[in-house]
Amino acid sequence: MKKFALLLAMFVVAFGMVAQAGQQIIVGTNAEFMPFEFTDDDNNIIGFDIDIIKAVAKEEGLSVRMHNQSFDTLIEGLETGKIDAAISGMTITEARKEKVDFSEPYYNAAQVIVVRDGTEGFTKIEDIVGKKIGVQLGTTGALMAEEVMGEDNSDLKQLRKYNMVFTDLKNGRTEAVVVDKPVAEAYLKQVDGLKISSPPMSEEQYGIVIKKGNKELLDKMNSGLAKIRANGEYDRIVEKWF
Ligand code: GLN
Repeated sequence: MKKFALLLAMFVVAFGMVAQAGQQIIVGTNAEFMPFEFTDDDNNIIGFDIDIIKAVAKEEGLSVRMHNQSFDTLIEGLETGKIDAAISGMTITEARKEKVDFSEPYYNAAQVIVVRDGTEGFTKIEDIVGKKIGVQLGTTGALMAEEVMGEDNSDLKQLRKYNMVFTDLKNGRTEAVVVDKPVAEAYLKQVDGLKISSPPMSEEQYGIVIKKGNKELLDKMNSGLAKIRANGEYDRIVEKWF
């Protein structure tokens, strides 16, 4: 009888622990998009988006495991079920909405052009035509560049990593980069010799991305976002990163 009581107690404790930790969701990100997601010296994934998704998950009794992958594989990862959600400074677009669901917007952004100090012009998107341009593969910046340069233009260098896109610009392999404004601003704080040459050229909103049709998780993300906006946690996270 004693043995049974002990087993029962162990079971109750174990069950309690599982219940407390809640359901774990695997969240994809491309941790090369400062200040939204990047890695620290110990290779931890940190940033505005990471704090947002963790705060949202906490409100909804979920735990989060981040999965670092290239930006252009996030939607596919959701479609195949490798990840449950993604947060990666991803702009809500009609084309993407055909493949995945988005939460309510959690941040506003815009594309800008970045050039080397001393470069003249590049004040509007048409100015990139006929020049060597760098973008990140699969982004709204890449799309915007393709719209004016044409899809298979060899002057448009599309790379998987933003670090490489900026390195090309610094080294003169490209003349300009099209990138999200908050990321350009964060990058320019770190490196000398570059500047933003255009005003904001688009109006974009980031959303948390969910596998299409997973209404339960989508509802949780929206309810969590509403809660952290209401209780001040959202503002605290903005304050921390911007
Ligand atoms: N906001 C841009 C997009 O959605 C860039 C995102 C990114 O590079 N992480 O395409």
